[in-house]
Amino acid sequence: NGYVYHWETFGDIPLVTWLDIKDWFGFEEPAGTKSQKTHSSPRVEIPYWGKYKGDLRSLDLVTVFKKLNLGCELQDADEDKFAVECPWRGEHSDTDQAWTASDTSAVIWCAKNNYPTFKCLHAHCEERSLEQLLAYAELRGVKIDDHCSEMRVWIAGRPSGDGGTPRVVLPSLGKTDSEFANEIGDVLAPKNCWFNYGEQVVTVRVIRLGDVYECFGFYPITSVEAGTNLEQYLQTGRLKRDGAGDEVFVPHSLRREAASYLLSALQLLERLPKVTRFLDTPLPILKDNKIVYPKPGYNADLKCYINPQSPVLSEIGFDDGLRLIEELLDDFCFADDQAKTNAVAKLVSPYCRGLMGWSARMPLWVFEANRERSGKDYLCELIHIVHEGRSSSHPAFENDAELRKKITSALLAGARRMHFGNIRGHVASKALEQAITSKYWEDRILGGNQNQTFPNELEFSMSANFGTTWTADLEHRMISIELFLARENPNDRRFWHPNLHQWAKERRAEILSTLAAFVGRWDTAGRPGGSAPFASFPEWARVVGGIMEACNLGTPHQPSNHGKMAGGDETTEDMKTLYRAAHEQFGSEWASKKQLYELTEQLELFSWWDLDDRKGQTSFGRAINRFNGRHLGGIVLEAGGAKNNRRYRFSLVNNA
Ligand SMILES: [Zn+2]
Repeated sequence: NGYVYHWETFGDIPLVTWLDIKDWFGFEEPAGTKSQKTHSSPRVEIPYWGKYKGDLRSLDLVTVFKKLNLGCELQDADEDKFAVECPWRGEHSDTDQAWTASDTSAVIWCAKNNYPTFKCLHAHCEERSLEQLLAYAELRGVKIDDHCSEMRVWIAGRPSGDGGTPRVVLPSLGKTDSEFANEIGDVLAPKNCWFNYGEQVVTVRVIRLGDVYECFGFYPITSVEAGTNLEQYLQTGRLKRDGAGDEVFVPHSLRREAASYLLSALQLLERLPKVTRFLDTPLPILKDNKIVYPKPGYNADLKCYINPQSPVLSEIGFDDGLRLIEELLDDFCFADDQAKTNAVAKLVSPYCRGLMGWSARMPLWVFEANRERSGKDYLCELIHIVHEGRSSSHPAFENDAELRKKITSALLAGARRMHFGNIRGHVASKALEQAITSKYWEDRILGGNQNQTFPNELEFSMSANFGTTWTADLEHRMISIELFLARENPNDRRFWHPNLHQWAKERRAEILSTLAAFVGRWDTAGRPGGSAPFASFPEWARVVGGIMEACNLGTPHQPSNHGKMAGGDETTEDMKTLYRAAHEQFGSEWASKKQLYELTEQLELFSWWDLDDRKGQTSFGRAINRFNGRHLGGIVLEAGGAKNNRRYRFSLVNNA
């Protein structure tokens, strides 16, 4: 209709190299075509090396001399120079005596990656070189090809000589992408280096999620790095005609374009070993009603990849094990015995996943403390170090959308656990509640437009100071580990092991062996179930509760008084003022609640509570009970007396 079309460019114009074009269209350099012509033209003679299928650069000429019963002695190792007995010595003028290594008139050089050289200084041998030497050997029944570690001529399926690296011809005209994918799959499958994880090609390495978090896990291979990654296991290349007209293999890296076809080829995915989970250590697994331990590396029957660097377990005495756990947790100021029992449960739980069933969920672990710097994150990370050998935590999440993204990328990487440090305010997260309880997790993957479902085997934990609140649904799915630091200055503390993380890292084998001993004791006892049920996590309560009780380690459960210590650290400053004033007014005498109300109103402290109102009094009462036993400004608060007649005393801390 006469409309004029214009070409317009927008966006970046991709830069295409000559190599890319050759790759895409599968053609050879004009030079290659020329040599093919050379081959078909009878006028041009085939070079002498064309008689051998072997690659003469890999010829072991020293052995050839030995086969010929001719002398050959190393003369100069730096030059790979050998003195040799010339095969045509009979034609020389001085052949009365037997050959000795001091006769250097004939030599060979066996340079690496190059043709060997033969040189005889005698006049008769002036025209003789490697060509004549090899022909001489062949005439006497020494097959030159047998002494070449590499073949010059391409033989399908034959690996390269240096360590037997398999060779795979890249896709081109006459070789389809699927054929290539099949071959790569067949070569890689037995090597357990590339895996099929959630229908994605992955490798195993340290994964960084965000700025600070890292774990050993599954890393999806990208098309940019696929080529170089492959070259650790095989050699890719193209077939060309050489000067003798033979088809030869020329190493050539897999380029990005072909790599992206390869990575999405079903032929490859089908052949790669399937993996569904990454385990940090060989965990006990209940199989046919027996407890078995898998081997490090890939376990085909379990579809598990177990960190090959995980420590090797050994027999450990039960009491020695208990002492070790005691030492591990000794430096922490647990609020009470239940808190410590729950911490041991946190240590034992990840080890019991193969006993609970992989899909069984576990409670949310909450490390709570009455104040900053009491070691709650340090404790959580310590337990992670025992299991993973490393630890890191995610910063607190801002909202559900952000949390969902974080969980999805953790699952994509095959992460085992997620810890959120220093949660504040009020936690109301549907995503977190779902992640704690659901056996499957569904989310949209970045860059994709379809939802993907993952088995959800993540363990969750978070840390918070007292005063942080959460929904009732979350409260019903957690186990708290409460720390209570009475001392005013956290820096005053003295530790048994100043670098406890390092100490634990060095004792991972013993600590994990202790956990194995716990499991062994439970097994011997007939695998009893735990006595405290947990509606949301029945398998966990049965197995972990059972193991803990069988080993007299207590019963893990949410403390019944949990949540009573309300209020936040924002009251600390006012409390400090009250401590000082109360000590000035009452000395070391006991004061009643009413006396404290008066003093508080007089000093205009805790202005957010109305102490004339019953509700305000209750909140104040809770806050003051929370500070029971705590030091502020060199003064310690003690609460005493019956519930309806509470009394308080503010005395100087005896630092002796
Ligand atoms: Zn000679």
